[in-house]
Amino acid sequence: MVRDTLARSLGSLRISVTDRCNLRCRYCMPEQEYVWLPKESILTFEEIARLARVFVSLGVTKLRLTGGEPLLRHDLPALSAMLAGIPGVQDLAMTTNGLLLAKQAEALRRAGLRRVTVSLDTLRPERMRELARSDRHADVLAGIAAARGAGFARIKLNTVVIRGVNDDELADLIEFARGQGAEVRFIEYMDVGGATGWSAEQVVSQREMLERLTARYGAVVPVAGDDPSAPAERFRLPDGGTFGIIASTTAPFCRSCDRSRLTADGTWFLCLYAERGIELREPLRAGASDEELRGVITQAWIARTNRGAEERLSVAQRGALYKIDALRADPRREMHTRGG
Ligand code: SAM
Repeated sequence: MVRDTLARSLGSLRISVTDRCNLRCRYCMPEQEYVWLPKESILTFEEIARLARVFVSLGVTKLRLTGGEPLLRHDLPALSAMLAGIPGVQDLAMTTNGLLLAKQAEALRRAGLRRVTVSLDTLRPERMRELARSDRHADVLAGIAAARGAGFARIKLNTVVIRGVNDDELADLIEFARGQGAEVRFIEYMDVGGATGWSAEQVVSQREMLERLTARYGAVVPVAGDDPSAPAERFRLPDGGTFGIIASTTAPFCRSCDRSRLTADGTWFLCLYAERGIELREPLRAGASDEELRGVITQAWIARTNRGAEERLSVAQRGALYKIDALRADPRREMHTRGG
């Protein structure tokens, strides 16, 4: 098992299959224009599967498809089948905005995708229009229903909570998720690359969310026994309902972070906040052997010191991580390229 300088294992790999997205969420892609990764740099399914096999041989057991919007990549079930077939993969999941899920849920499930997380920031279509510049709220709901119909177990809904935007919907989202046999996870608004409009005042902290939910439901207690490397802390309501909170902004969990991220162009990031990534496409396309790729990955991981979210906590006058010019200069700094 490969471990970094803080004894964190190389457990989970998030694979961004495209930097394109069909939403323009204000916390992720608020600009009018973007610089995209060059087409010829995008890894083929065979290249992604080859790298995934190498990562799995080094101890990765969990893979998650993401983007951009992963379902914009043509024939994602084919990639899912390739990844699900790698011996040693214990969990294959996807994070999606759900817009295109209704049509593909069955095929993805059949291909071996095990779990789906759907981003749902609001239950109000008119709010989604403002928040994500899209009038396709009904498609997201249809996607969630289709995922359930296709037999996905433990469907999760991700909600980025922003003060004054959707923070009045916490209880509504808990109830909606419950009705769908799903579980909602509230994500604190993060100052990641791409969140050019971020400010501390807009963050609703885990603590505040718990206070509000306690006022509404009564005592909220932590759920014991969950995987300590999972980003969400889960809570139980007095009536038995559950929800999660991902407190990356106010209570980061860098010490247990076993996640790394592969962009669609084969750049490997050891931290969501890392300035630079490690080029894997170059050696891959230059004919490196699996052993050589393993060497590159192992050397980088054992030297890993990253604690990006914790370091952000100590920044005085915290604001957006990057201004738009810096993002345009290197689009791999964008959350939608790294995959979230
Ligand atoms: N398009 C897919 C989706 O919408 O789920 C996958 C990619 S998206 C970048 C992955 C996750 O990152 C989403 O759940 C999204 O809400 C989250 N995200 C993006 N920007 C964020 C921010 N500034 N703070 C917190 N979460 C963010």
